Amino acid sequence: AIALHEADPEMYRIVRDENIRQKNNIELIASENIVSQAVREVQGSRLTNKYAEGYPNKRWYNGCENVDDAERLAIDRAKELFGAEHVNVQPHSGSGANMAVYYSVLEPGDTILAMSLAEGGHLTHGHPMNFSGRFFNIVPYGVCKDSEQIDYDEVQRLAEEHKPRMLVAGASAYSRIIDFKRLKKIADSVGAYFMVDMAHIAGLVAAGCHPSPVPYADFVTTTTHKTLRGPRGGMILCKEKFAADLDRQVFPGIQGGPLMHVIAAKAVAFGEALKPEFKAYQEQVVKNAGALAAALQEKGFRLVAGGTDNHLMLVDVGASGLTGKDVANALDKASITANKNGIPFDQKSPFVTSGVRLGTPAVTTRGMKEEDMKTIAGFIKTVTENMDNEAKLAELREEVVAFSNRFVLP
Ligand code: PLP
Repeated sequence: AIALHEADPEMYRIVRDENIRQKNNIELIASENIVSQAVREVQGSRLTNKYAEGYPNKRWYNGCENVDDAERLAIDRAKELFGAEHVNVQPHSGSGANMAVYYSVLEPGDTILAMSLAEGGHLTHGHPMNFSGRFFNIVPYGVCKDSEQIDYDEVQRLAEEHKPRMLVAGASAYSRIIDFKRLKKIADSVGAYFMVDMAHIAGLVAAGCHPSPVPYADFVTTTTHKTLRGPRGGMILCKEKFAADLDRQVFPGIQGGPLMHVIAAKAVAFGEALKPEFKAYQEQVVKNAGALAAALQEKGFRLVAGGTDNHLMLVDVGASGLTGKDVANALDKASITANKNGIPFDQKSPFVTSGVRLGTPAVTTRGMKEEDMKTIAGFIKTVTENMDNEAKLAELREEVVAFSNRFVLP
C-alpha cells in the first residue's frame, strides 16, 4: 500500500491545508457540520469498490451480502430514529431526494406550492434554473412582512386559489419553528400531497428539539450532512403506501449504483444519533444559537424574525448599512466562515444581499458553549466595525485562530 503523501503529494497538500483551515476557522455556515472519525473511516473504506444496483436482497450484481447488511442497518436505524414507515437511504444528495419524490407522484407541469427562495426556501423548491422550476409550475409562498415568519393564512389562500398537487415545506434559511400540523391541514383541504424537506433541521428533529414532520407528511426528505452530522448525502422517509413508487423512482428512476460507502457511513451516523449524547449535542446547538443571537442583538444587530428557535439565524447587516457579500468576505479575512444570504423583501440582488446566515452545528460539535458564542459575537462586531481595516482584520485573525485551536476538531 502506498500512502497518499507518496502516491499523490499534490493532493496530500490540498487535504492537509483543508484540515488546517477547518482547525483554524470558526465555522458558522449553518448547513455544515463536522463528522466523527467513525463516519469518515467508513466513508473512506473499501465499500466504495462495490456496485450494488437495486435494493438489499434484490441486486443486479453478486457479492452484495455485506453491503446489503450495511444498507439494512442504515434503514433500520433511520426508521427507529424518526419513527418512519419506510426509508430510502440511497439518494446521493438532498436535491436528488427531492427530485425522486416529485417524480414519484407528480407529472411535468403539475403545480407545487413551496416556500419562496427569496424568503428561505431551497433551489429545489422552485428556482427557475433548477429541475423543480423547469418541470413544474411553482407557486411560491412567503413570510409576513412584520413578523418575518411563515404567513400560514396566505398559504391557505394560495392553496385554494391554485389547487396544487403538492405542498412543500422546509427551508434553508428560516430561523423559527415550522408548524407542520397546520401545513398538513392546508394540504388536506385541497387534496394535495404534503412533502417536508427537513434537511436543515433533521438533527434537531431526531433529538426532539424541533417538532417532527414525520407524523404529518406523506414524504419527508433530508440531507444527512447538516445538523444530522452524517456523510454528505440524502434520504427519504415516506408512508408505506408510497414505498414501491418511491423506491422505483430513486432506482432506476434517477440514479444508478448507490454509494455503498456513503450509505454505510449514514448507518454509523444514525447509530450515533440514537445515543443520548446526540440529544445533548442538539440541545446545545439550540442553546448556542440562542446565545449567539442574544449577544448579536445586544451589540446592535437586527435579526430577521427577531431571533431563532433552531440552529440558525439571519443577521440583517443591511440595517447596519452593510451588505451580506462584504461582511462575509470581511469575516473570511478574520478566519470566520459564514455565507451571504438574502433576507425577506431584500432590496439587494442575490449576489450582494442584505443578510448573513449564521449557524451553530459545527462550532457546537467542536465543544463550544454559550460563553464562546458571546466571544464570537464580539469577533463579528469587530469585523463589521473594521470592514476596510486590513491590519485590524489580520490582527483579529490571529486571535480567532488561537481561540479556535482551543477546541478539538473531530
Ligand atoms: N433542501 C434544503 C432545505 C437544503 O438546505 C439543501 C442544501 O442546502 C438541500 C435540500 C440540497 O441538498 P444537497 O446540497 O445535498 O443537494
